[in-house]
Amino acid sequence: MLSLNEYGFNSFFSEQVTENRYRPARVTAVHKERYEIICEHGNTHARLKTAVYFLGGIELFPTVGDFVLIQYNESGDSIIAKTLRRKTYFSRRDPTPGRDEQAVAANFDTVFIMQSLNFDFNAKRLERYATLAWQSGAQPVIILTKADLMESFDKQLMEAETAAPGVTVAAVSAKTGYGLALLSDYLKPGRTIVFLGSSGVGKSSLLNALYGEEAMEVSDIREDDSRGRHTTTRRQMVMLPCGAMIIDTPGMRELGMWDVSSGLGETFTDVEAYASRCRFSDCRHEFEPGCAVKAAIENGELPAARFKSYVKLKKEAKYSDNKSAALRERQHVHKAIARQNRQHKRRKMI
Ligand code: GDP
Ligand code: ZN
Repeated sequence: MLSLNEYGFNSFFSEQVTENRYRPARVTAVHKERYEIICEHGNTHARLKTAVYFLGGIELFPTVGDFVLIQYNESGDSIIAKTLRRKTYFSRRDPTPGRDEQAVAANFDTVFIMQSLNFDFNAKRLERYATLAWQSGAQPVIILTKADLMESFDKQLMEAETAAPGVTVAAVSAKTGYGLALLSDYLKPGRTIVFLGSSGVGKSSLLNALYGEEAMEVSDIREDDSRGRHTTTRRQMVMLPCGAMIIDTPGMRELGMWDVSSGLGETFTDVEAYASRCRFSDCRHEFEPGCAVKAAIENGELPAARFKSYVKLKKEAKYSDNKSAALRERQHVHKAIARQNRQHKRRKMI
């Protein structure tokens, strides 16, 4: 039997298993109504338990990387009865009415923020993604790809390091293997890495280079799409020969800036260090006297562009904070109404 511990199942998750009629499993791919999972019996398929996920309505829908509890079925789809609490996750706004966010990847240790040196490099976006990564609870690493196409990339390395203080920056080439050794610290057995980067930056190529051969085995699941055609989808979480797992899912490309406020401090340690020296603790760094941020910009210590993106991100973070607060408020009201209805019914039955 296979040990799920090799797939990152540790005490954080096992402590959440209180009923032994269920077995743990990890989600490796999400399809429309079907999941690919790995459990002690190997790779298999699963569906959601209707009573728990649709009628109850509070259980979080599983995503790639999630640990779930299943009723194992040897001769067909297993049944997913619970999504275990996540250690880390990324989410985006959920288009489904009544649900505010939708997770796109879960339970990763490291985020590889990827940009290609030749056309995609953008320090502003690195700032945003580093903030998003810190906020998820995982460790960001910046990977600048296609180094073989560049004569020099010292400038980009420096800009990236300035954009995300404290984050390791590595220039690599999937084509020549340059720089890949720098990544071995993160590629440890049982560890999970998620790729974050636009289409074309070289995510599949890096995965194949780390795998040592073509890793993109097309998964064996065939699912009818809405037009009745068959579509084949590849696995979204892959285990490398070294024992680390890579999550590379299309959902990651559509990540917006959800709730970034709690990651802002780590990305903007430089700005916040100046801000802490302003005369007024509620300084808005506009026209206040004794503003250390303004002073640092004026004497050239702090790039004005850097301050501008800090302000912009703060505004966005505030907006999404307000938005999630409003959503939480609404859910509160709904729950209160449901409670009243139940009490009302009970009274009628008596
Ligand atoms: P993805 O969309 O992020 O998965 O990107 P791909 O891995 O499909 O790569 C997009 C294109 O960039 C392909 O044409 C690759 O051959 C090319 N590419 C990827 N990595 C490298 C690299 O390290 N060096 C060079 N020269 N080309 C690369
Ligand atoms: Zn100030």
